[in-house]
Amino acid sequence: MTATDTSHDEDPTVLVVGGGATGTGVARDLTMRGVSVVLAERGGLSAGATGRSHGVLHSGARYAEADRGGARECIEENAIVREIAGACVADTGGLFVSLADDDADYFAEKRDACRAVGIDAEEIDPAVARDAVPGLAEDVERVMRVPDGVVYPSRLVAATAADARERDARIETDAPLTDLTVEDGAVTRATVGGEELAVDAVVNAAGAWAGECAALAGVEVDMRPTAGVMVGVDHDGVGPVLNRARSPADGDIAVPHAGRTVLGTTSVAVDDPDGYERSEAAVERVVAECAEMVPGFLDAAVLDTYWGVRPLYAPAESRRDAVAAEETGTPTETGTGTGTGEARGISRDFTLLDHEVDGVAGFYSIVGGKLTTHRAMAAAVADRVCDRLGVDADCRTAEERLAAAGDPERLDRLVAEFDARSPADADVTGVE
Ligand SMILES: Cc1cc2nc3c(=O)[nH]c(=O)nc-3n(C[C@H](O)[C@H](O)[C@H](O)COP(=O)(O)OP(=O)(O)OC[C@H]3O[C@@H](n4cnc5c(N)ncnc54)[C@H](O)[C@@H]3O)c2cc1C
Repeated sequence: MTATDTSHDEDPTVLVVGGGATGTGVARDLTMRGVSVVLAERGGLSAGATGRSHGVLHSGARYAEADRGGARECIEENAIVREIAGACVADTGGLFVSLADDDADYFAEKRDACRAVGIDAEEIDPAVARDAVPGLAEDVERVMRVPDGVVYPSRLVAATAADARERDARIETDAPLTDLTVEDGAVTRATVGGEELAVDAVVNAAGAWAGECAALAGVEVDMRPTAGVMVGVDHDGVGPVLNRARSPADGDIAVPHAGRTVLGTTSVAVDDPDGYERSEAAVERVVAECAEMVPGFLDAAVLDTYWGVRPLYAPAESRRDAVAAEETGTPTETGTGTGTGEARGISRDFTLLDHEVDGVAGFYSIVGGKLTTHRAMAAAVADRVCDRLGVDADCRTAEERLAAAGDPERLDRLVAEFDARSPADADVTGVE
């Protein structure tokens, strides 16, 4: 970006910061409502958590017993993403398996909670599960089938960005936000990729980096990012997504891919999302834990490892009341990370912060959440932005398919064009 544009056009302009699933989703949503958008990403699209996740399109079963609201939102969004995203999704299905030493009550509690929130959870014979997953451990005692899937994040983000661009959004990669100007209690200008823009609103969808971006406007957003490792192993015997039926812990998911299985993950609190320890011990732990479900993982060659940082939000106690008053996302009291260790105890629901309460009108942060629920996150913030801009248009992102959704080759060309390549699905997109 080279030009300078500090004059306000007739059409209000919204700057969206961050080119992950959330930011591209916001850009698409706003442009579908006729709003003029510039999206600025500091690297390539999907460079953050989006391209470094497992890529499970959650059914919500993983969270059902601990967070029914979050689980309900997952199953609703799971159905919508399947409808709109075509070849960005593989309909693999998912299994939850309980081993001999696992808590039988936990399995029953999860199954009942799934059914209570509308997740189609069917208990099946372990022998049937063994047909779907050759090499499943002998001591698998109970199995539940759920509508999990696999989402290819590079394709999803590229298709979402292309959709926004077809409606005249400017999508700028290698364009970091470096400055925000606040005048008379409202955000008025932003500098991205060296260009100063006049803006009518700014949406901070910078994931684990949301705190740094908010600080440019003198606002505090208290992020508590946690890092997790994924391990790609040379094993292609897994058909459905495999989940261990136990409280979320290290190494309890195995995700089928093209000629490899991705094992994950861990959850360790980090101070700096760009600089944290990537320990070999974590890699070994994930493989060993997942091998309790499929012992063959232990002998499979490790093809790749990659780390991602969850954009978790943990407001300081003093800010909780103000945040709760402003929040329009799902409630954050019931986190979905209820497993072991403090780093798993932070809510994985999303939070929308309207920084008018901090003295910066027109500035919003959208934090937390999941890849699966990115569209709902985008809708929540787009509603709020449209209210401020006086735009009277409903969200239509659940009703229209994404650009190129039915054309895998075009999707992969878009991945290359937007530099949206990610380690999570490079084996599928072929874009390294
Ligand atoms: C290990 C792990 C496994 C996960 N597994 C799953 C899963 O299986 N299913 C699921 O649904 N969810 C999963 N998640 C959660 C999910 O990946 C995230 O919640 C989601 O992708 C966040 O998307 P986002 O767009 O909000 O953030 P991000 O994808 O992190 O995007 C933020 C973007 O902002 C950019 N940015 C930062 N600073 C600036 C700046 N100054 N200027 C411009 N751009 C900037 C970054 O480069 C980044 O691209 C997982 C997360 C992790 C870490």
